[in-house]
Amino acid sequence: MMQIPLSQPDLTEADIQAVVEVLRTPMLSLGPKLPEFEEKMAAYVGCKYAVAVSSGTSALHLIVRALGVGEGDEVITTPFSFVASANCLLYERARPVFVDIDPLTLNLDVGLVEAAITPRTKAILAVDLFGRPADWNRLREIAQRHGLLLIEDSCEALGARYRRAGGTWARCGALGDVGCFAFYPNKQMTTGEGGMIVTDREEIAALCRSMRNQGRDEGAGWLQHGRLGFNYRLSDLNCALGIAQLARLEEMLAARRRVANWYNEALADLPEVQTPAPDEPGAETSWFVYVVRLVEGYTRADRDAILAALRAQGIGCSDYFSPLHLQPHLRALLGHREGDFPVTESVSARTVALPFYNRLTREQVGEVVRALWKAVQTSCPAARKTKHQ
Ligand SMILES: *Cc1c(COP(=O)(O)O)cnc(C)c1O
Repeated sequence: MMQIPLSQPDLTEADIQAVVEVLRTPMLSLGPKLPEFEEKMAAYVGCKYAVAVSSGTSALHLIVRALGVGEGDEVITTPFSFVASANCLLYERARPVFVDIDPLTLNLDVGLVEAAITPRTKAILAVDLFGRPADWNRLREIAQRHGLLLIEDSCEALGARYRRAGGTWARCGALGDVGCFAFYPNKQMTTGEGGMIVTDREEIAALCRSMRNQGRDEGAGWLQHGRLGFNYRLSDLNCALGIAQLARLEEMLAARRRVANWYNEALADLPEVQTPAPDEPGAETSWFVYVVRLVEGYTRADRDAILAALRAQGIGCSDYFSPLHLQPHLRALLGHREGDFPVTESVSARTVALPFYNRLTREQVGEVVRALWKAVQTSCPAARKTKHQ
């Protein structure tokens, strides 16, 4: 049976060696690899400051705290995302206010944002979903008009680029007041676990640096805690892997782009399956996952049957993402119901994330597409109708 995982990290002997070298030193944490990784990330993203932390989720949590977003504050965000982009608000008792997504880009529908603003709105938290930049120029305009903070969850978009209103290109992560990345093994690059906060605002970077390390202030004693903090540190082992991965990032992103193009070509003749929308002018996706959508008419049950059929053949696949407003804890807290965000719900019922990683071969892409084609034929609405007659 074929075995093609959904995702797979890309690790070389040099990556492994970089980690082993740290193990031969006494500096396993808070050593020299930490500032080196941060400086290199800041330079890559084009931000003044980068603060490494233990995960993308802890990065988001510290951002929310550092910006002073808390109890009684509302933050406008997307219901079509990974759960951490909403949970980070709950940790600080701020309220996520969801607005629906654009059916093509799958990012926050910026046209709906202003209607969701109330006197309690403090920030907009937008996600560069699946590596595609959100509509940051329009988000910034709205944020400025209403005096709101802009948080960029760029955890899926390392390396993506976006043309600012002035005409200059910037990288995702640098498009709001603060951005962040995640380095879980399925992301564009990995440190095992890990995250990074990026910003041009010195006071935000300093607060995050202190809070990730038990509230210690720079230069103060080990048992001096200037504020409430956490242990969200990233070890030097992880940082060494991050440095090695970052050095190969452009090459890895090019490999991902190549695989995405193979899928686009191979799926062009499959009318039941909608491939990801091409980039709009002024935006350049960094491929995080390859997610197709069954055309309208397919139900969630059809989609789930297709996922099961693929998995039965050893093909990894997933249903990115399940609507956040219908996750039990968010639904209970915010009082949401099915139907509240129809675009999100309709899209989310029909997505199929296909195997996607740097070393996927063209032949494997062909095998996946053939298996998908077969699965779609057996579960398509027309076929189902005939069966039931
Ligand atoms: C991966 C991801 C995160 C953070 O993930 P961690 O697993 O905590 O590193 C946050 N937001 C989005 C949109 C993500 O995809």
